[in-house]
Amino acid sequence: MSRIKKTAGFIIRSINYGDTSRIISVLSQDEGKVSFMAKGARKIESKFGSALELLTLTEFVYYQKEGLKLLSQASTLNPYSKLKSDYDRLEVALRTARWLQRLLEEDHGEPSVFLIYKDFLEMLCSMLEVEHFALYELSFKLKVLASMGLAPTLDRCALCNKAPERSWFSLEKGGLLCQNCRSGGEAHERPLNLGIAKGLNMLLRLPFEKLTRIKLSQDVTAIGTKLIDEFTSHHLRPLMQQRKHLAQN
Ligand SMILES: [Zn+2]
Repeated sequence: MSRIKKTAGFIIRSINYGDTSRIISVLSQDEGKVSFMAKGARKIESKFGSALELLTLTEFVYYQKEGLKLLSQASTLNPYSKLKSDYDRLEVALRTARWLQRLLEEDHGEPSVFLIYKDFLEMLCSMLEVEHFALYELSFKLKVLASMGLAPTLDRCALCNKAPERSWFSLEKGGLLCQNCRSGGEAHERPLNLGIAKGLNMLLRLPFEKLTRIKLSQDVTAIGTKLIDEFTSHHLRPLMQQRKHLAQN
């Protein structure tokens, strides 16, 4: 007999399967990223109703059968309607959902990521200023990476721990390098102004509600976003290869 289980989570991806079904990826409260097969979800009179919409916080009842998680019931806990009715908010929420979908491993418990995403989406709903969205998005990404043990070192040299006078960011070492420690000419090293590194460190350390009080230059968001996306891709590549290898064997 298969055991009925229950969990709650945000829907971060939904893809069509067969003629009437969907496969739903969920950032769940207690099991990390999980995928459900929702049979008949695309029928007009589907029992799931609107509970399977992207970015909705839903409670799922499911059972495991032959390696698949089959969804039996879904009920909306919070539709986050404000996100879905505003183009700018929706764009940020969908982009971060896609980022999480790529970053997280299936069935790998990351309870803190769920809480960070929930805080972030609630902040996004309540914020008034569109120009702050990019800063919050960057802070969100840094906080998620930190919760997965990938926090970049931004206040000192990642190798010798000294405060550098000039600094580079190493995608490989995951942090700043001083002039003595950098290898030079490496494809994974980027010059990084210390002021920008300091700004990024604040985005990493400060809770969301304190971010509006700090003054950061536009450069921190623009340069920081590019750098953190490169850093994420750099760390995802070996992870992706590992997943592909496991899937083939
Ligand atoms: Zn050093």
